[in-house]
Amino acid sequence: MFKEISIGFGLATIISLIVMGYDITPFIFLIAAGAGLFYLARARGMVSTKNFKSSSGTGRCEISFRDIGGQESAIQELREALDFIKHHQDIKNLGIRPLKGILLSGPPGTGKTLMAKAAASYTDAAFIAASGSEFIEMYAGVGAQRVRKLFQTARDSALRQKKTNAIIFIDEIEILGGKRGQTTSHLEYDQTLNQLLVEMDGLRVEDNVRVLLVAATNRADMLDPALLRPGRFDRRVKVDLPDKEGRKVILQLHTRNKPLARDVNLEIIAKETFGMSGAHLESLANEAAILAMREGCREISQHHFNESIDKVMMGGKLDKQPSELEMKRVAIHEIGHALVSEKVRAGSVSTLTITPRGEALGYMRQTPEDDTYLYTKDYLENQISVMLAGAVAEEIILGNRSTGSANDFEQAVRAAETMLRSGMSELGIVCLESLPQDLKHRTISGIVREQEEQVREYLTDLKEVFDNILKVLLEKEKITGEEFRSFIN
Ligand code: ATP
Repeated sequence: MFKEISIGFGLATIISLIVMGYDITPFIFLIAAGAGLFYLARARGMVSTKNFKSSSGTGRCEISFRDIGGQESAIQELREALDFIKHHQDIKNLGIRPLKGILLSGPPGTGKTLMAKAAASYTDAAFIAASGSEFIEMYAGVGAQRVRKLFQTARDSALRQKKTNAIIFIDEIEILGGKRGQTTSHLEYDQTLNQLLVEMDGLRVEDNVRVLLVAATNRADMLDPALLRPGRFDRRVKVDLPDKEGRKVILQLHTRNKPLARDVNLEIIAKETFGMSGAHLESLANEAAILAMREGCREISQHHFNESIDKVMMGGKLDKQPSELEMKRVAIHEIGHALVSEKVRAGSVSTLTITPRGEALGYMRQTPEDDTYLYTKDYLENQISVMLAGAVAEEIILGNRSTGSANDFEQAVRAAETMLRSGMSELGIVCLESLPQDLKHRTISGIVREQEEQVREYLTDLKEVFDNILKVLLEKEKITGEEFRSFIN
């Protein structure tokens, strides 16, 4: 509005001067030079034009804590912190310092952004979102200016929406709030972080708009200690990967608007998706629906979910078609993994396939027993033997190994190193850092070799079973755990 009035006024002045017979060339020259300078400064980011996304707590960002699954304790902690804002009068009466910042830390896709939005709904606050990378510029002072603008936008937005609270959400705070003096252009980084600290220090419970900063990070260890000290980010809420029950709840949330067939068992899907985040599970439900649509089905069935677990875990199917010989090698490799997997834990094979997906030409998927967070020596040794079984199978049946086992070996060595670090090797409890490289190498190789020998002995006796499964796998390209077990029984 102001811009339009100014342009109109400027044009009217110029026309009047021309009519009155004045020479306006110097004026035009001055205006052009001024406009040129302004646009140059704006292009270089010296005049901040960044607009931060804002949405209302009751309007567009209608997310509540009920829409977030598998994060009960994180939600509980966050809600307790938010109650300080809801009951600000009691806080003021008791002379309690207001809460200024809440830091949500955890792996990607676990629902940190969702929690910040739900926090805005819970406190009936205006919600402004920004990402740490939006504050980083080459030019000193620009980031600091954007931080000032962010806080101002939050206050303005709350006033416009007639709210007394505003929540500013900064994702990837480690970019803006990393330890000072560590980057090459540290002057700019330091100024930006300093400005954030200044703004946080300026937050008061008496303000007409009470601002709360909610930040999210996957790397809390990278944050500057000044940000984490009491009085800044007072609360740190850990948002972890969901456990089995949590995964089931998240799946229920993301399938509530989808027609599910009777055979769908979310409990089984939750069990098979160990290690997946909420974002993975959302994608899984979506992929299953896409698959059902592609097949022309009206409902989503269990096999759609099974297929999409493979897709989310391993990546999309690839067009590349390996040669017949390679397919046979891949099949033998995967059967080797599966046979040893069934030996160490009966019923553990979920699927066996030789369809190329993502980086893999084929794979054997195991059903996780239960969510496991501690590993015993037996467990780690069994994992190593399952990892080695692919290469050993190739060797027994085809007479040589291929490069397809490099990744398996890496995982086997990592498990052996974990054993060494946890005092499970023949060396007993050791300090890994002060252990001579040579001794470390020999001990790890010893652990791996011992398992390799046992696997070789076991698989050599199963040549006949190999032949039977191989025929079916090459023909069908994918078999389920049940089909596989029917051969070994
Ligand atoms: P990042 O660290 O990568 O920014 P994030 O932790 O902020 O990730 P969100 O952006 O909140 O993750 O989640 C992405 C999407 O994943 C959400 O829009 C939602 O669909 C789904 N999702 C993630 N976690 C959950 C959860 N706990 N419950 C329900 N849905 C979830």
